[in-house]
Amino acid sequence: MKSICVYCGSNPGAKPVYVERATELGRRIAAEGLRLVYGGGRTGLMGAVADGVLAAGGEVTGVIPQHLVDLEVAHKGVTTLEIVGSMHERKSRMFDLSDAFVALPGGFGTAEEIFEMLTWRQLGIGKKPCAFLDIDGFYTQLIGMIDHMVAERFLHPEQRDDLWHGEDPTRMLEWMRAYSPAQADKWFDEKKRNALR
Ligand code: AMP
Repeated sequence: MKSICVYCGSNPGAKPVYVERATELGRRIAAEGLRLVYGGGRTGLMGAVADGVLAAGGEVTGVIPQHLVDLEVAHKGVTTLEIVGSMHERKSRMFDLSDAFVALPGGFGTAEEIFEMLTWRQLGIGKKPCAFLDIDGFYTQLIGMIDHMVAERFLHPEQRDDLWHGEDPTRMLEWMRAYSPAQADKWFDEKKRNALR
């Protein structure tokens, strides 16, 4: 693992602990010799994680669409800032540049980005680890919703077990380094599974 993609809020959240832990994760990423790949913004938890990496001497690649640069939210201090034409281009570039994906607390943008990676992976596009690094129980309800998807047979239990959820970055990084993707199918229907083989 050489690089890690962090998805997180462009807002700082309601409690100081969100920014504190995001900065801490940034420092940890640098200490592990990993490159941070992220959305290139300077606001909220995005700015905090990037500043954490940079303060600890690490490298940061930001990938940001032109219209967000124009809104003056691009972080000008990162090691490399790639400016792309659209949100779709950005996500695909972040996918190519990264060996693992983690979501810190955030809003729609964060949820959409990590869920896209999870959906790609369950369709066999990319076999890279995806994790929710929780802060102060922020993700408890979302993980409950994912368990509900399993209980109602919209999601394979193996797919649910193929994501990591917890508060300890050390454990998360260990899990990522040892990761091998589940061999689980997306579909419950035998015929559909066989047709796609
Ligand atoms: P949200 O969780 O809705 O705040 O969205 C944060 C995620 O969406 C980040 O991981 C970014 O990739 C992207 N994003 C949303 N807003 C911005 C912004 N102002 N600057 C850069 N990226 C953003």
